[in-house]
Amino acid sequence: MPYAYDAQNIFARILRGEIPNKTVLETAHTLAFHDIQPQAPVHVLVIPKGAYVSYDHFASEATDAEIVDFNRTVAEVCRMTGVHLGSGEGFRAITNAGAHGVQEVPHYHLHILGGRPLGRMLARSES
Ligand code: 5GP
Repeated sequence: MPYAYDAQNIFARILRGEIPNKTVLETAHTLAFHDIQPQAPVHVLVIPKGAYVSYDHFASEATDAEIVDFNRTVAEVCRMTGVHLGSGEGFRAITNAGAHGVQEVPHYHLHILGGRPLGRMLARSES
């Protein structure tokens, strides 16, 4: 079954310029901007400009150029925000998908979180 993309989701509206964002970096195929409700000192969302719902949608259907551009942008955001391992203390990259992943916005996005120790990824009791 094809992935159903909702063109009215909030990140689609950000990409169309209908809603402002605090841009960290924009490239040909990718936009990175600060999360509106940051959960760590660094909390940046990296999104493809293409209409992809989730990581698996992007990974299976995006072009090679989009995938390379997205990943290079992630690396550059980590460098720009000072969390990369070259000089920083590290980060966590998270992507949520669908109901079980508790995805709020149905446009693929990668959260880059850092700037403080982040604790365990999941509580041990949630297996
Ligand atoms: P999800 O739960 O889908 O993985 O994460 C969605 C994220 O988008 C949340 O962290 C939320 O704070 C962020 N968000 C929701 N609406 C907006 C918005 O209008 N602007 C920005 N910059 N972030 C948003």
